[in-house]
Amino acid sequence: MDCLFCKIAKGEIPAKLLYQDDKVVAFADINPQAPTHLLIVPRQHISTINELDQANSALAGHMVHVATQLAKEVNIDEKGYRLVMNCNSEGGQAVYHIHCHLLGGRQMNWPPG
Ligand code: 5GP
Ligand code: ZN
Repeated sequence: MDCLFCKIAKGEIPAKLLYQDDKVVAFADINPQAPTHLLIVPRQHISTINELDQANSALAGHMVHVATQLAKEVNIDEKGYRLVMNCNSEGGQAVYHIHCHLLGGRQMNWPPG
């Protein structure tokens, strides 16, 4: 399958990896929207978060756990940060392999643009 994030997870395309385990990888976004902009990506190919269900709820929970641990590691946990998962075109999803954005290091605004 021709999927960018599957290739990054397999090490076939380079990325600035900050964390990996048997379930997820986390790496720096190539086009950062904040001083900290990391992507937490499952090794399993799931196209959109619409495909998440009870069978992979532990994986989704693990993605959030890894994101919050990384926020602590890069010292943005106290000031705050944002986790974002975009879904399909109106949600702004560009890469159809689910991922969680960890954004921080500047003031986040609501609602986003
Ligand atoms: P989406 O819009 O699908 O929620 O987010 C996809 C993200 O992947 C974007 O923030 C984009 O900058 C990032 N991205 C796209 N291609 C690459 C790449 O080749 N390497 C890395 N590290 N990030 C990428
Ligand atoms: Zn994939």
